[in-house]
Amino acid sequence: MKKLFLSLASLAILFTSCNSDDSKEVTQDQQIDMSDFYVYTDFNDDLSSKSINSKESFKTCYTMDVLNKQLSENPGLEKKMYDVEYHTRKFITAKGKPGGGTGGGGGGTSGEADVDVLPINDGLGTINIPVYVHIVLPNANDVTNTQVQSQINVLNDDFSSTNTNLLPSGATNFVNDATVSGITFSLAGTFRYNNNTASWGTNNAVKSAYPPITPQTHLNIWVCNIGGGILGYAQFPGGNSATDGVVLLYSSLPGGSAAPYNLGRTATHEVGHYLNLRHIWGDGKCRQDDFVTDTPSSDGANYGCPSYPTINCSSTDMTMNYMDYTDDACMYMFTDGQRNRMRAIFTAGGARESMLP
Ligand SMILES: [Zn+2]
Repeated sequence: MKKLFLSLASLAILFTSCNSDDSKEVTQDQQIDMSDFYVYTDFNDDLSSKSINSKESFKTCYTMDVLNKQLSENPGLEKKMYDVEYHTRKFITAKGKPGGGTGGGGGGTSGEADVDVLPINDGLGTINIPVYVHIVLPNANDVTNTQVQSQINVLNDDFSSTNTNLLPSGATNFVNDATVSGITFSLAGTFRYNNNTASWGTNNAVKSAYPPITPQTHLNIWVCNIGGGILGYAQFPGGNSATDGVVLLYSSLPGGSAAPYNLGRTATHEVGHYLNLRHIWGDGKCRQDDFVTDTPSSDGANYGCPSYPTINCSSTDMTMNYMDYTDDACMYMFTDGQRNRMRAIFTAGGARESMLP
């Protein structure tokens, strides 16, 4: 981590010194703290250490592993992701609202004003994302149109906080933190491909076989069997458009057989990554952050349906956040800080600005 940070810092100095308007650039760098930013993660899902029958062996999102692989294969990606993060923090700093993303480990939410009010003051209004769904299975009709529409409905409910919240008993300090993201989803088309491939893995093979359609303006979701007990993986903003989108285990869609992960919240979690959210524990120990200040620090994922309070890193984990690994029925919220990170990528110069009509 430190080596990477130093190289990025050197890069920043290099760019700053080459800029004709030195004073302006220096001022911006001082305002926008990138000191905790990292791209590689040292967190890996070590499947071999987990019991094959445990919940932990099944609840697995491979987004960070895929990111590590893409970074190692594409040196230019680090700089792109640094730029996306810089843009995000610049937007949040300018907004000056709580729940921003300048790091620091996140210290809980008590005492912060709730800014969960629409329209959000970023000039964007409601952001609608049109979605193409590609179903790739031996019998692609095994996932029905009803399930696909139900999945879109779950995304809309979760991102607008109109789901049925299941607040753990006594979880009073998170009671006002479920945010309305102002992001909606509409089904633009469903495509079915009968393909006998038993499992597609996490190397984007399914995307190569069935390329995304206009990923600059549409979220592409592939529904297939991934294998290895993996529920899904996503690509962060800034990556190659040929592999942009989200891959879901077919049985994780609402009504599928992947209980307790069959209420459609694998999609919510993976679309969170697609919109630039990290895992809530920061994919590391207590000091590694998810770049969101109103999510508490933790040192690892939570599983199952945790009782409240679950305390790690001297603070109460927000186990009900979509970016944790808990059961679908026990996760129900994004925070204002996460909302701000997601919306930042749609602002002028943002990595997903082209998705706006
Ligand atoms: Zn994930």
